[in-house]
Amino acid sequence: SGPELAALVASGTVDVPDFPKPGILFKDLMPLFGDGPTFRKVVDGIVAHHGPDSFDVVAGVEARGFVVAAAIAYAVGIGVVPIRKAGKLPRPAFSATYDLEYGEATLEVHEGAFVPGQRVLVVDDVLATGGTAGAALDLVERAGGTVAGFTVLMELDFLKGRERLSPRSVHALLTV
Ligand code: AMP
Repeated sequence: SGPELAALVASGTVDVPDFPKPGILFKDLMPLFGDGPTFRKVVDGIVAHHGPDSFDVVAGVEARGFVVAAAIAYAVGIGVVPIRKAGKLPRPAFSATYDLEYGEATLEVHEGAFVPGQRVLVVDDVLATGGTAGAALDLVERAGGTVAGFTVLMELDFLKGRERLSPRSVHALLTV
């Protein structure tokens, strides 16, 4: 159930103060990934929420999004497409640059990564300001995909990422 999954995400997360810089409370979900039964329940919960027939391919945002995206794709029996940080993709790619709290970052996806009209479930671990998610969703559309949904394990409500992504819908297993 929803509350059960939210509790699993909460119990599998370690709060790390001042990482990667002073003032940031980093939500480390690696303990959750490292626990087999919890990881499986969380992945199955995401698939059940969206419905396994509601998307054709999964896109994961580097790097922690890859872990969840690949598991979802495997569970459903479909493919996974990486959305990578700048300079990592070997073939021609679309890129999107967005603002971080300090400076900016760039994400990329291969041209032709999606069959036109393919429904794409976009996955990351944490939604903070929404800059990363906004860039990822733009890239999916530029590369020919149709966004079926954006899903995260945890949403940091006070950073208003959901508002920034509106009217696109966001699903989070846990909102804090
Ligand atoms: P944003 O673009 O601000 O929504 O940041 C989201 C991206 O940065 C995701 O890929 C997250 O993995 C990571 N991130 C941002 N803030 C945090 C945080 N407090 N704890 C863990 N990851 C974070």
